[in-house]
This record gives sequence, structure tokens and C-alpha cells, in this order.
Amino acid sequence: MKKIVTVIGARPQFIKAAVLSRILQGRFQEILLHTGQHFDSDMSEIFFTELNIPAPKYNLGISGGSHAEMTGAMLVGIEKVLLEEKPDALLLYGDTNSTLAGALAAVKLHIPVIHVEAGNRLGAMSNPEEVNRITADHLSTLLFCASKSALEFLKRENLGERACFVGNVMYDAFLHFSSNSRQALSELRGYDNALIRVPEKYCYMTCHRAENTAEDSTLLEIFRAVDSLDYPTIYPVHPRNRERAQRLHREYGFKRILLLPPVGYLDSITLTKHAACVVTDSGGLQCEAFYAGVQCVTVFEHVVWPETLVDNRNQMCAPRAAEILQKLSAKQVIDPNYQPFGDGHACEKIVDRLERWFG
Ligand code: UDP
Repeated sequence: MKKIVTVIGARPQFIKAAVLSRILQGRFQEILLHTGQHFDSDMSEIFFTELNIPAPKYNLGISGGSHAEMTGAMLVGIEKVLLEEKPDALLLYGDTNSTLAGALAAVKLHIPVIHVEAGNRLGAMSNPEEVNRITADHLSTLLFCASKSALEFLKRENLGERACFVGNVMYDAFLHFSSNSRQALSELRGYDNALIRVPEKYCYMTCHRAENTAEDSTLLEIFRAVDSLDYPTIYPVHPRNRERAQRLHREYGFKRILLLPPVGYLDSITLTKHAACVVTDSGGLQCEAFYAGVQCVTVFEHVVWPETLVDNRNQMCAPRAAEILQKLSAKQVIDPNYQPFGDGHACEKIVDRLERWFG
């Protein structure tokens, strides 16, 4: 059986591994390597237990520091594992520093790289993830695209022959785990374990990108927008942004915004499905709002998922209160036949293709 080392390190990568590892099982020997990029129990452990992801054989415990410090330490750690395991291929997801380090380590050891969620482009090298995705794509042997626009980007960069469209693995995950999450949630755990009652009508918000959270002023604009909706907002806060979010919340008394620690994936998709609207800067969550047919405003300058931007289903927005509110008030139209992220079987398509490729 061919051996694959899979590098994971961040929340969305755990979710992707939860669905792809199941399909790899029995057909490939998969070894999970966790870089440690996300390490808190509510950013890492909960995903492994709740989504039944096999325990990683390796955990490098690398998090924090500058991009260079993190990527450099991961590069060294991943190389050691690859030298020991001698896999037939290395599998990577998305666009994090763990992805970049994995691609660099493997290619120097002549280990073929498989990139899942390849080809997304923002057109802005100022975005650190853009550097990671472009580099990883160009170092990869097999590229699996979540959308047709991603495949087009790869063709333009002369990578079309190594690439194919399979659909979004996150869509597979959404469909697979949705069966566990039909009922709306009645309560959630807040900070200090306090119980928070989930209102019947609410906005579900996540916001963690540096572009929106590095300054008080941008986060304040986003808070002001959702605080003036006529229903409350549920906001699980990324640990990176906790201090600022709690301080602004306290200083300005945003009583209609319910701050809480990160929730698990099952709670996150349940919250999305029952939300009146979603306000986010997350790539994953804007797609989940789309799958669930819930209107979304994405507070970010660059388009990550152009397919979602139809009929007001997802609208890109600057971090300005008036613009966010104006976009939330636009009416969305849903065409049920429009399914740009595949048929929910991206993982099967990936594993079939890998089997053919290995011969
Ligand atoms: N998510 C979660 N708990 C939360 C917030 C988000 O499980 O408290 C999920 C969300 O449903 C989506 C994924 O995390 O599936 C998105 O991850 P993140 O926003 O960290 O990364 P991005 O999508 O921006 O790469």
C-alpha cells in the first residue's frame, strides 16, 4: 500500500482531513503530521474528538512567532519526519504556513506533493496566504481544485496539466456532518463556562483576519454594524483576537453582541444553518453560508470564492458599518440548480485519481 504523509496545522485543515482521511483509509497508508500551528483545545483537540479524525502520529508543537520563524521551524520538523517515514507522497491542504513548509520540505527530498484546494487566487501578494498558495501550487505534482475558477487560474499559470476540478472538500464535510446538526442549538458555552441562551433569530459572525482585527477602528466598525441589527449577534472569537474583542465589547457596551470562545465544527455549521445572516472574514464560513442558503457579507478586500458572489448570496464589503448594513439589507435569490462546488464527492474523486496516478 502506498504511504502518504498529510500535513495539517490549522482549524480548516482538520475539517478537510476529517472527510478525506476516511476515504483514504484502507486504500492508502496515511500518516498525519500536525504542525501545532493551532493548538488550543477549542481550535484543535475538539475537531479530532468530535469529527473522529485519527490521532496524528507526529505533533511538532510549532506555533506563534513571525511567519519566517514559524515556517522555518516547520520546514526543519517536517523534513525530519519525511526522512524517517519515506512516504510515496505528501498531501497538503489550503494556504497556511504549514502548507508552505510542507511543500518546500517535500520537494527538496523529491517527494511528490499533492495539493488539495489548489488554485485559489486573490491577486494580492500582500496577503500572506497568497504567497503560500502560489508557492505550494508551483511545487506540487497533483493539484485538486475546489472550484472551476481555481482551475482557470492554474491554467493561466501553466499548471493546468497537473490540475483538475473535483469540488470543494469543505462541501463534502458540510454535507457529511450536517446530518448530525439538524436541530437549532438552544445554548452555548461562554467564557468561564457560563451558559449563553441562543436567540431564535441571530446573526452568526466570525472575524479574525489581521486586516480586520489589527486595529481597534476596523473591528469597531464591524461591531457597530452588527450591534445595530434588530437581532443579536453570536460571535465565537478566534484566540488571536480575544483581547481586543473583549476590551472593545466592554468599553463600548455592545450588549447585542454575544462573545464566546471558538465553537466546534458541528456547532459552527448548525449556527450557520439557522442564522438570519452571516458576517465573516473567513474563507470557509462564507462558503458554508452559501451551502446553507444563508445570506452572507464577507468583510474583506479580496475575493476568495468568486462563485459565491451571485444574486446577493455573498457580498464583499469594506469594514465600514454603513456598507455592511446596506449589503445585509439586499435581498438574496437562490437558484437551487447552481452548484459550483461539486456534488459532495470531491474526496472520492481525489482518492480515485491518486490510485490511477500511482498506477
Ligand atoms: N469554525 C468553527 N468554529 C468557530 C468558527 C469557525 O468550527 O468558532 C469553522 C467554520 O465553520 C469553518 C472553518 O472553521 O468550517 C473556517 O475556519 P477559519 O475561519 O479558521 O479559516 P478560513 O476559512 O478563513 O481559512
